[in-house]
Amino acid sequence: MKSLDDYRGIVSDHVLAQIYSKSTRLNNYHVVHVNSTYSGGGVAEILHNMTILMNDIGIDTGWRMLPGPQGFYTTTKRMHNALQGEDISMDLINKDLYLETNEKFAVFTHLAEHDCVIVHDPQPLPFIKYCRKHQPWVWRCHIDFSNPHKELWEYLKTFVLRYDMVIVSDPKYMPKDLPVEQRIIMPSIDPLAAKNMDIEQDTIDHYLQMYNIPTDKPIILQISRFDKWKDPLGVIEVFRRVRKSVDCRLILCGGAATDDPEGAEIYQNVVSNNQDLIEAGELLLITAEDNTMVNALQRTASVVMQKSTKEGFGLTVTEALWKEKPVVASNVGGIPNQVIDGENGLLVDPNNFDQCAEAVLRLLKDKNYAAQLGKKAKEFVRDKFLITRHVLDYINLLLDLL
Ligand code: UDP
Repeated sequence: MKSLDDYRGIVSDHVLAQIYSKSTRLNNYHVVHVNSTYSGGGVAEILHNMTILMNDIGIDTGWRMLPGPQGFYTTTKRMHNALQGEDISMDLINKDLYLETNEKFAVFTHLAEHDCVIVHDPQPLPFIKYCRKHQPWVWRCHIDFSNPHKELWEYLKTFVLRYDMVIVSDPKYMPKDLPVEQRIIMPSIDPLAAKNMDIEQDTIDHYLQMYNIPTDKPIILQISRFDKWKDPLGVIEVFRRVRKSVDCRLILCGGAATDDPEGAEIYQNVVSNNQDLIEAGELLLITAEDNTMVNALQRTASVVMQKSTKEGFGLTVTEALWKEKPVVASNVGGIPNQVIDGENGLLVDPNNFDQCAEAVLRLLKDKNYAAQLGKKAKEFVRDKFLITRHVLDYINLLLDLL
């Protein structure tokens, strides 16, 4: 099992000493995180890493998952889309099922022992309504809701008002019309997780072979759930422009998150509209879930893209930067917190396909420039976006809530 000591040499001793010292006051403090999936997507990724380290330093940290029927996830995905700015009809939101699922969850989820409850994203947001609250509750929203659907936000605020604190990933996302204390905590990656740890070339080769990934051409990679905001069809359009100048291959790797019911349809759309590229072996689609495979792919790619049109933070960008990869990413949401254009990667307008293609081509053609960006990228992540900084942010939050 991982322990904080294992991070010596990756982050400074000063950071580790701070964590040990501050966490003393939280010994035996009991925290529980609540979200709606154990796998797929950034929230599950963070919770897997975070809960182990928090327990290691003596803060009893649990993780509960809110289960729901398919219709519940359909409704909460619609909420997710509308909070990110999509114009939907409120008739499509099944409020009864939303509340009933949370109410049932509360019947068998007892939190009497806990000193703090941290609820992630809209799915378990109303859970608080059905619990006997006797401790601080925090709503941690990972979504870019700088421009939320007004009617939906008014509805959700009914539950948000019950919380003691709201955490978002970027100052832009702080709702001005919310009389609840707010704080910014940016996400992080774990450098010792299977997805990010250093791996030997032999292991990389083994995984590439296992998943039938040829390396005869440069690889352009986007790792993302098949989600419209990640714009897989747009990535392919950019690739079509790039391949006119450089012979290369595109890999789209996207597993499914159990709380995201839209993935299958978007995947089918990608397949049916791009048979030419798939048959030519120029577009590879991977749906398997395998952290070491993701690690191997990110290390093998010549350019990593993240052409999202909305992105709360974008851990896939952090993961690529940590691996010193040249990145072409959209100048949206939380991405510009990570990519400083021309310093550690290239920022693009996701609606300008020509600009995206030019950025990819520049990095494919100028390997020295690409390597130079990659070197700076790793240090930038070390400084700002590793799990140890995130643990410290949570310790500070819990101390403030004590
Ligand atoms: N991910 C993965 N396999 C996939 C697609 C995504 O392991 O096929 C991981 C990815 O490496 C990252 C997380 O899921 O750790 C996605 O987080 P991000 O913040 O980029 O996006 P989200 O899915 O939360 O919107």
